[in-house]
Amino acid sequence: MGMFERDTEIYRNRDALRGDYQPDELVGRDSELERYKTALQPVINGEQPNNIFLYGKTGVGKTAGTRYLLDHLVDDAAQYDDIDLTVKMLNCDGLSSSYQIATRLVNKFRDDANQISTTGYPRATVYDMLWDALDSCGGTVLIVLDEVDHVNDDSILYQLPRARANGSLSEAKIGIIGISNNFSFRDNLSPKVKSSLCEEELQFPAYDAQELIEILQQRATVAFHEDVIDEGVIELCAAYGAKDAGDARQSLDLLMKTGDLARDQDTDVITDDLVRQAREALERGRIREGISGLTQHGHLVLYALLTLEQQGQTPVRSRDVRPRYTKFAEQIGVDPLVPRRMRDHLGELSMLGIITSVERNEGRRGGTYREYSLDMDISMVLTALEETVESVGVHESVADLVSQETTLTEYT
Ligand code: ADP
Ligand code: MG
Repeated sequence: MGMFERDTEIYRNRDALRGDYQPDELVGRDSELERYKTALQPVINGEQPNNIFLYGKTGVGKTAGTRYLLDHLVDDAAQYDDIDLTVKMLNCDGLSSSYQIATRLVNKFRDDANQISTTGYPRATVYDMLWDALDSCGGTVLIVLDEVDHVNDDSILYQLPRARANGSLSEAKIGIIGISNNFSFRDNLSPKVKSSLCEEELQFPAYDAQELIEILQQRATVAFHEDVIDEGVIELCAAYGAKDAGDARQSLDLLMKTGDLARDQDTDVITDDLVRQAREALERGRIREGISGLTQHGHLVLYALLTLEQQGQTPVRSRDVRPRYTKFAEQIGVDPLVPRRMRDHLGELSMLGIITSVERNEGRRGGTYREYSLDMDISMVLTALEETVESVGVHESVADLVSQETTLTEYT
């Protein structure tokens, strides 16, 4: 027998739970997809396509829905001799300028041997190459700019929709589909871009628990062997998903993590209890990530609040966090921030969901103030703050937890 053996007890096809898996059918998006389909109808009619702007939070099916409809559109367009449809999808994550988008688009029309360098040309040259590429492609061209909110300047969003009117294009009829996770992106577009890019606006709302159940059920059938999943598991994943953000990706991640735990633990049924364990593990990862992105002062403020929480002194006002924070800062030889800046860090921590902040009234004097407490499991946060704890020193209030944590990490 080899050293590695295949695990096949739980999963039939684990990849079906991944975010990039494209399901054959979408569930629970009928009215949104119907509207989207209407917006794409001019393509089949052989008319100049609409520019479409689609927005909605992450994980609500924007990419999957777009792929699904465009696949059908390409198939159906092939039935008509007078339509020559080309679709190019570009994800703008990691691309921050119109220049970068334009070079990537040019390369999508060129074969491997003729790719252009993504730096070094004047911008006008790259745009000219893009118009040439589009015109030699000809016909109807749909350009999908997914996660377009990563782009910091809107030049390309202005140029592309107007290329034909400006005489830059003579052959190709182009349509732009912009997709954004970020609602404010649209509002921040300049009026001239907004009016051309957002001819048709579509919004995908968050999923409710029932819709998430349908999505998870559909994927679970592909991903897991029959009878592996206990009753109630899908419902629980969906309930968490609906409570968190109505995000299908997050719910699928939870189901996958649950399946992985079952596999690691060598059990052949997936239970509610595993869902809870998986959720805690994912949560821990999220906290660790959030905390590792903070600055040193953010870490010190959090450590101070954590020790106060452990001593039962929360909810606590900013001015009462301050002495401990100052002490911690001095212990590692950094200048404490002024109260106002320290309070900004408390604000950031509550935005990240690591702590909670509640507004209170001052009473007769009429002012308001905020009180803070930790919103996460203390030992989880403590683990994420490991380096800070090491440099500042172990505060007496958490001494027990720290030694326990150390032994825990030694054995995992
Ligand atoms: P977005 O682009 O809005 O961030 P995605 O389209 O990537 O979200 O969807 C996230 C995950 O959820 C993907 O795996 C996708 O296949 C799945 N998904 C989203 N909506 C549906 C749906 N209505 N039916 C089936 N699967 C869906
Ligand atoms: Mg997407």
